[in-house]
Amino acid sequence: MTTTVVWMRSEYDRRLHAFDPDKIGSEFAEALCDHSAPVKCLQRTETGTRCYACLLLHGADLADNQGEAAKWAH
Ligand SMILES: [Zn+2]
Repeated sequence: MTTTVVWMRSEYDRRLHAFDPDKIGSEFAEALCDHSAPVKCLQRTETGTRCYACLLLHGADLADNQGEAAKWAH
């Protein structure tokens, strides 16, 4: 479970995936959705289409970490 992720665009599917900073190695990185790619094929950018699986997984982590009080409160 992580609340801090790094979004990077993979050259393989040209989508932005969310990476747990702890899972960014010196050569390979693994996204929340299990997409993995060599670090040299990943670009740090905020522009592009985000991976749906990473968005959902990251959103679920955020909701869990916010606790009941913050759940969908207006
Ligand atoms: Zn992904």
